[in-house]
Amino acid sequence: MPEGDALHRAARRLQPLVGERVEVETPHPRAQVGQIAERLDGRRLLSVEAVGKNLLLTFEGGVVLRSHLRMTGRWSLVPRGSTRRGRPWLVLRGSRYEGVQWNGPVLELHSRAVRRLGPDVLAAEPDVGRMVENLRRDDQGRAVGDALLDQRLVAGIGNKWKAEALWVVELSPWRLLAEATDAELHAVLQAAASQMRSSLEGRRHANRVYRRAGRPCPRCGERIRSRGQGDANRIAYWCPACQR
Ligand SMILES: [Zn+2]
Repeated sequence: MPEGDALHRAARRLQPLVGERVEVETPHPRAQVGQIAERLDGRRLLSVEAVGKNLLLTFEGGVVLRSHLRMTGRWSLVPRGSTRRGRPWLVLRGSRYEGVQWNGPVLELHSRAVRRLGPDVLAAEPDVGRMVENLRRDDQGRAVGDALLDQRLVAGIGNKWKAEALWVVELSPWRLLAEATDAELHAVLQAAASQMRSSLEGRRHANRVYRRAGRPCPRCGERIRSRGQGDANRIAYWCPACQR
């Protein structure tokens, strides 16, 4: 499931294409709508970066391709001219490699970078102070677990890392922002950043609460609970005994 760390891996994978003038094709009919191939073909790729849940590919001329992978999309890098089965959404062909995007589901061209996102939790030095400020500027009647998923406040935390980070710092996803101290918010953001960084670097992570409803909490043995939270009704997982 693509979370922020999966996007960072995709950005890293595509680096060999940076600096190259690319041939662009959109084999899949759903990707042909925005005339992406026509507008990008022959341009030089200047950068590929993961920002929050988006992969931003910047081309010369100030054209930015935004790729959002949701649950299904993925990027691969293969030697130029590799045979493949099926129809990818997008192929960016450089001199030696080609970047291939499968299953969309979002490819959009912008004339400028999408920058209305909060600080990136996976930045080399995450700006946790500004993330806390953003959370404080939001509605303080909002639950912490809901606010952590708001990409305008903090970019890149997905449902899994939200649940796991809240468990580490023993904070309930249902605690209201008004009832959480700055130190607690700082701690949960720091926990999310370090767990996600570790996953990005390839270390395995055993889930403590995420998708473990009904099973015992690894810290105290209480049964883990789950319930939909926020406008998007994302499932929150927590231990009712040790996450206050
Ligand atoms: Zn517990």
